[in-house]
Amino acid sequence: MTSLTASHAADLVAALLFILSLAGLSQHRTSRAGVVYGIAGMALALVATVVVAAQSITAGAVALILLAMALGAMTGLWRARRVEMTQMPELIAVLHSFVGLAAVLVGWNSYLEVESHGTAQTRIGADLLGIHHAEVFIGIFIGAVTFTGSIVAFLKLSARIKSRPLMLPGKNALNIGALAAFVVLTVWFTISPNLPLTIAVTVLALALGWHLVASIGGGDMPVVVSMLNSYSGWAAAAAGFLLDNNLLIVTGALVGSSGAYLSYIMCKAMNRSFLSVIMGGFGIAAPSGHEEDHGEHREVRAAQAAEMLAQARSVIITPGYGMAVAQAQQPVAELTRQLRERGVAVRFGVHPVAGRLPGHMNVLLAEAKVSYDIVLEMDEINDDFADTSVVLVIGANDTVNPAATEDPGSPIAGMPVLRVWEAEQVIVFKRSMASGYAGVQNPLFFRENSSMLFGDAKQSVEEILHELSANNRRDAVPAARQATVVSH
Ligand code: NDP
Repeated sequence: MTSLTASHAADLVAALLFILSLAGLSQHRTSRAGVVYGIAGMALALVATVVVAAQSITAGAVALILLAMALGAMTGLWRARRVEMTQMPELIAVLHSFVGLAAVLVGWNSYLEVESHGTAQTRIGADLLGIHHAEVFIGIFIGAVTFTGSIVAFLKLSARIKSRPLMLPGKNALNIGALAAFVVLTVWFTISPNLPLTIAVTVLALALGWHLVASIGGGDMPVVVSMLNSYSGWAAAAAGFLLDNNLLIVTGALVGSSGAYLSYIMCKAMNRSFLSVIMGGFGIAAPSGHEEDHGEHREVRAAQAAEMLAQARSVIITPGYGMAVAQAQQPVAELTRQLRERGVAVRFGVHPVAGRLPGHMNVLLAEAKVSYDIVLEMDEINDDFADTSVVLVIGANDTVNPAATEDPGSPIAGMPVLRVWEAEQVIVFKRSMASGYAGVQNPLFFRENSSMLFGDAKQSVEEILHELSANNRRDAVPAARQATVVSH
């Protein structure tokens, strides 16, 4: 078998491993196996690529590739060990920006190679030159949009810039104009390729990527992250065409289509128009900026909260981003255990975009060993709030905001939310009256049946646990005395 056919076989096996990896990652039970398939596929692909490349390049160039791989692996390991769960979306956004940048560099390299050597020293036939030029342009365009878009997503997710949408006058016309200009430039470049056009498309796409993501508000960020994931896949596929690398085309298409599908599912879950989000908030009105006066809020202390819980028949816990920040999942799991021991029915209601990445809360609850069968999705539990004694909103805000269903002018209007306010009592655990990720005030905090329990969520839950055990001891003392009397 020649090394080329061996490399084709390796590509095929690696592509199958990537498909198995995606299938494995779709469920909790099989997710570890999914990660292992992905690592195996990537290791095989890297080895096959270096072995094939080594036959046509100098030893020095191979050494450079190995050095780059070692540096990349070390940086990746270092970041992966240090990153907090709450920072994952930021990290993913940065990684997408690398894929975008790589696609831009591959496009530029491919253009300059043909410009300086002609087609003689490349694998491109003269008859396919037009197609090659279109590939260069499409690769640079998708890569540059992904690059700046991912950087803006990173800046927004890490709160380095405001998450509010940028509302330039005529923003939709700007986006559509940029797309039309791209089509015209591509046709022009295919007929007469030249350096100024390459620079023009790069600048245009960098600006478009920045504007598209800057125009999207915080509430839609989960969709943006998965959409950029999709763009980075298409950018990799475009680079695969330019490098004549089938595995890169297949992998890029897998990432591109799965990212697009995930974005679509999330848009459905948040009642957002998919097209509107990928077009940088097309058709979404600017927030009014008008803050309504919601009146007074009530406060409770841990002792009162413990009392309410001890009296409750049923409790639903709705965790959010604040639970992740406070790392409160272990005490929350302990509270669940103790309440269930007292005969209180405790369940969790998890919103699809609670936290900062899909599945964030499920991972934390699984880590704290909360049983899967009491962790329910929003649609499974939303009708049960009306029949619930106490809801504990632990560090959640946007995902329990009634304005989404009641105020058509709200920036999160139409987003399905957990209807916690239908319960008899709601206790909201947070540190202040500050708004959530989408920057919108939450009328839940001012409802008659809501009370705020201010403080770090972990500390508050620990105080409740302390109060519950103090109650237990108080209850136990008379019983012990009684037992003593009986024995006499
Ligand atoms: P939010 O981000 O709306 O609110 C979190 C709340 O937690 C804040 O109001 C904050 O209030 C509180 N908080 C922060 N730290 C602590 C702490 N240590 N102890 C107690 N409370 C704390 O959370 P949700 O989970 O409800 O909503 C997620 C939001 O993130 C949505 O807007 C979603 O669209 C967006 N998003 C989701 C992604 C996903 O895939 N899941 C990805 C990107 C964005 P305070 O400061 O007063 O304590």
